[in-house]
Amino acid sequence: MELRKDPITQSWVIQEEEKSAALETDKCPLCPGHEALCPQTLYIQPLGQSNWQVRVVPHLRPLYRIEGDAQREAEGIYDKMRNLGAHEIVVEHPNHNLPLSRQSEEHVAQVLQAYVARCADLKRDHRFRYITVFRNQGMLAGQDLSHPHSEITATPFIPRRVGYELRSCKRYFEMKERCLLCDIVRQELSQQVRVVERNDWFVAFCPFAPRVPYETWILPIEHHVSFEEDLVNWDRQLLFARLLRSILHRLESVAPAYHLVVHTSPNFAVKTDGDWQSLAEDYHWHFEIMPILPSKSKSYSLKEVYYNSLLPEMAAGELRNVV
Ligand SMILES: [Zn+2]
Ligand SMILES: [Zn+2]
Ligand SMILES: [Zn+2]
Repeated sequence: MELRKDPITQSWVIQEEEKSAALETDKCPLCPGHEALCPQTLYIQPLGQSNWQVRVVPHLRPLYRIEGDAQREAEGIYDKMRNLGAHEIVVEHPNHNLPLSRQSEEHVAQVLQAYVARCADLKRDHRFRYITVFRNQGMLAGQDLSHPHSEITATPFIPRRVGYELRSCKRYFEMKERCLLCDIVRQELSQQVRVVERNDWFVAFCPFAPRVPYETWILPIEHHVSFEEDLVNWDRQLLFARLLRSILHRLESVAPAYHLVVHTSPNFAVKTDGDWQSLAEDYHWHFEIMPILPSKSKSYSLKEVYYNSLLPEMAAGELRNVV
């Protein structure tokens, strides 16, 4: 596998020579008792192998490899590099049949703790510019192991959508000296038409121009640039877990399959060409959840213009009314 850069859009593509064989899955490698099927444990809570609640292991078929360096090279005008990086699995619960939304608040908070610990640890590696936490639920979302889990990747580049957000937030800050997402939160809280739910510290709403029906974002109401530096105490983890769990419940009542991604600051420790002097003030971490509706899955067509048949104001109203 190698990484190739599209010289026009600047996005990196993971190029595989040949699709690797499917995982042999007569025994779930993530279930308690089968720990030996995963070569290494990166995180375990509580400490001690026997009755763990949350575990992090290297991915069994990683997209990225942690050894060595990126070996960036040119092929004429093109750029490529090795698939350097990390790819991990967060095993969210010992119970094979308990999806995240049905786990207790305390348990979801423990899963968030695992995200925080792994992000902070991977950011100590200066080869990595960005750490992504994501979760695919359901066949339609491409979930590959049936045990409830999330994934974490560390890459020597910043993913394209995050790059867009960073540039856009920086430009807004240069004009207004305010954080774009803080302004969005303020407007959503005052308009109250797209807000699905809020508590003292966090708010969930459907964005003004959603890419898919029921797209929902969850953000801290007070400004903070990075997820793993903000969600460090138990009270905050618990309150975020409560809101996340509730939003997943609501979304699953309309679409059981979804993609979830955490957008947080890039690795400050890595020197890059971009000028990120105002980053701590201009970027604001958030979760994005994109439900997948079978009938609407044509929404992102080759025209690259999103077509969404449901107004976010209607979607938010519907999600607010889920019992
Ligand atoms: Zn399992
Ligand atoms: Zn902000
Ligand atoms: Zn985002």
